[in-house]
Amino acid sequence: MIPIIRPLLGTEESDAVTAVLQSGWLTQGKKVAEFERDFAAAVGAPHACAVSNCTTALHLALMVAGVGPGDEVITASHSFIATANVIRYCGALPVFVDVQPGTFNLDPALVAAAISPRTRAILVVHQMGMPSDLHALLDLAAARGVPVIEDAACAAGSEIEWQGRWERIGKPHGVIACFSFHPRKILTTGDGGMITTSNPDYDRQFRLLRQHGMSVPDSVRHGSPQVLFEDYPVVGYNYRMTDIQAAVGVEQLRRLPALVARRREIAARYRALLANVPGLILPVEPAWARTNWQSFCVRLPDGLGQRATMQAMLDDGIATRRGIMCTHREPSYPRTTWLCGACRSTDGQACACLREGERAQEHCIILPVYHQMTDAEQDQVVDSLLRACGASRG
Ligand SMILES: *Cc1c(COP(=O)(O)O)cnc(C)c1O
Repeated sequence: MIPIIRPLLGTEESDAVTAVLQSGWLTQGKKVAEFERDFAAAVGAPHACAVSNCTTALHLALMVAGVGPGDEVITASHSFIATANVIRYCGALPVFVDVQPGTFNLDPALVAAAISPRTRAILVVHQMGMPSDLHALLDLAAARGVPVIEDAACAAGSEIEWQGRWERIGKPHGVIACFSFHPRKILTTGDGGMITTSNPDYDRQFRLLRQHGMSVPDSVRHGSPQVLFEDYPVVGYNYRMTDIQAAVGVEQLRRLPALVARRREIAARYRALLANVPGLILPVEPAWARTNWQSFCVRLPDGLGQRATMQAMLDDGIATRRGIMCTHREPSYPRTTWLCGACRSTDGQACACLREGERAQEHCIILPVYHQMTDAEQDQVVDSLLRACGASRG
């Protein structure tokens, strides 16, 4: 069976976990601090704060940006549901804008048109690791005085060309960026998240909010020669990362350059082997972007059924996934819970403004990419897809 992804975990990770277990300090201690320092250095961010996952990271990011009831947040419906859910956690209204078909990322012109006096933030997704058009998005957001928050869940190790240099996503280019370390992502800690920012006050608030709003963290109290009493100036959360997770994260981060390089090789090989399949549309990497190819997502030729193709490939022992979901189509998102950024219709009528995302969900499939994948395994995937498309190798 060829899986869709397989984490790369070795004795480095298991030795690091054992060391934490034997150290006697298991949560939000030295290892978490080390992972934060290493991650900040890796992406070029002034501050990085570890949390329990990317969903909690995004929740804190929106809270600290002041998003609350009555506010609108512009984002993509065509994303994992957590992107929109965090807007609703804040009592705000998700305003959905369509994506561009080649990159699966927000269309900046549609974002510009969707900004209203109530827009409190733009939540930009680097979908499947592909950098969004931050040049255009940051310009138009700055012109309207709206902060940009980056859902970089999938984008660890992805780069964007910025003033003539390649910079990693997460610097961050917007005000805050949030990462995921779920096993489906390029780096994993089992579950885990990271928030980067260049704003020291935001970073201070993340640290307060992730640990119950406690003014003196455990690590400081335990290390103090004086008795310290904490207080709780704000209502916080338990969004902590454990030292067990962080120990894995430190080792995973060392692998990041190799993981990205290998995924880029695999993607280039898919591109070469699938170049001449009639009607098959390959993902687009803009000249200013270097994705980590968290996922390699292809649009099937017209007339080829998505489910049937995926089933045929599964019968050949190959796992695939369908295109990214569209949150606005889920039962948890009735029309009253979101606004269309294009027509702003609220009358309960279905609009067709989010059609590129809908098409991508219906006609795209994600092919396996993992570090350990051999050329022979990749050939199997390609041959199976070609058979399904009724094509042969060029
Ligand atoms: C995976 C993912 C998330 C959620 O990450 P968790 O760490 O599982 O909470 C959010 N947004 C996007 C775009 C994702 O792909």
